[in-house]
Amino acid sequence: DQSWEKVVDAMTLLIDDVLVARVPMSSVYYDYLVVGAGFAGAVMAERLARDSGKRVLVIDRRDHIGGNAFDHHDEAGILVHRYGPHIFHTNSQDIVEYLSRFTQWRPYEHRVLADIGGVKVPMPINRTTLNRLYDLELNTDEEAEAYLADRAEPVSPIKTSADVVITKVGRELYETFFRGYTRKQWGMDPSELDKSVTARVPTRVNTDDRYFTDSFQAMPAQGYTAMFAAMLDHDLIEVELGVDFEEVRDRIDFGTLVFTGPIDEYFGHCYGKLPYRSLDFRHETLDQEWLQDVAVVNYPSEAVPYTRVTEYKHLTGQRARQTSVTYEYPCAEGDPYYPIPRPENEALFKRYEALALATSDVLFVGRLATYRYYNMDQVVGQALATYRRHATRLAAAVKD
Ligand code: FAD
Ligand code: UDP
Repeated sequence: DQSWEKVVDAMTLLIDDVLVARVPMSSVYYDYLVVGAGFAGAVMAERLARDSGKRVLVIDRRDHIGGNAFDHHDEAGILVHRYGPHIFHTNSQDIVEYLSRFTQWRPYEHRVLADIGGVKVPMPINRTTLNRLYDLELNTDEEAEAYLADRAEPVSPIKTSADVVITKVGRELYETFFRGYTRKQWGMDPSELDKSVTARVPTRVNTDDRYFTDSFQAMPAQGYTAMFAAMLDHDLIEVELGVDFEEVRDRIDFGTLVFTGPIDEYFGHCYGKLPYRSLDFRHETLDQEWLQDVAVVNYPSEAVPYTRVTEYKHLTGQRARQTSVTYEYPCAEGDPYYPIPRPENEALFKRYEALALATSDVLFVGRLATYRYYNMDQVVGQALATYRRHATRLAAAVKD
């Protein structure tokens, strides 16, 4: 009867839905499947398509391209970074030239203030920091050098993120600027972290208050996402968003895999989980033109739950009546933002790396797949080098 027909119709629609979900995403063969549309994935896809003429499918489980560098206009129309401040800086002219094919640049030199009990002083520590904090009159580099030498407590050998700072500036400055911030950011004491972490931040005796001294410092003129869109804009590249590799790996017909997600996840955590540090981002738009004097203010005190506050208009040069800011709250669970540099984590990574080396037809690239605390330019450099090696092997195989 009629109601039975309705049930059958409904069932047919349901089955159709299931079938549609199960059929391959497309019947096309892709030479490469690239997992991840961040810097690592975008560079690999761009090179494979544009330089080698390969057909490439890029997927990302997020609903946008750009990975952690993704930026977008928020409800107030202000260009913000969803995953915290991303400032481009590099000493590599090759990397600048490569990325300049996809974007113009807005010169920008990053400056950071640290909030020490309400007093804002330049970070990295420089002569002005010392003068302002302690009401000193150190007038020359030599005077500042002597001041720090008096306080320095040389540690040998320098192994940890505590050693590397205490050796240079002594315990008091270490505690004021580094200990609390690091304990919040990493959920452990600097003495438990590899020296490479705090060694990212120099100490200066001059008055240079820039965060970086790289020869090239600039922001993509239209933002990162626009730059990624230009990189991926090629007839041989398709992009599917909101797609997890695990869900589709059997439904896509592809030759070689480029994996830029967490390496331990790729291998089903077979040796246990690699530790990552995560962040909660609190994004806010304020009904005032400016909140702070510079793009980033750091809060080293453990009494404050966040590590830093970013005000985007300083980075982008945008003018607006309102201002948008982000507070960063470090946490253990959540998206894997930071590999945690410690000897035991490096040892665990090495075991996964050995598996990766034995896995033919998969290229592991990027901050998560190689478990490296890399900046954007380093990831671009790593991806370009990986591509070049791979292309050379391909060319040799064709000759044979
Ligand atoms: P990601 O950008 O993480 O991209 C990997 C992509 O793969 C992600 O989009 C993810 O969704 C996707 N993915 C993973 N697994 C899967 C899967 N199974 N299926 C589908 N998709 C998957 N660098 C700088 O140079 N300057 C800065 O100022 C700076 N600030 C930073 C601030 C923060 C808070 C963070 C976390 C990083 C910062 N970085 C900065 C580092 C920069 O973000 C990275 O170097 C760069 O984005 C790494 O690119 P990637 O492609 O390796 O990884
Ligand atoms: N750091 C700190 N105090 C600061 C700034 C940095 O202790 O005011 C330490 C902290 O451990 C941090 C590391 O130095 O994780 C590297 O700082 P960077 O600004 O490079 O961190 P990122 O931008 O990668 O989060």
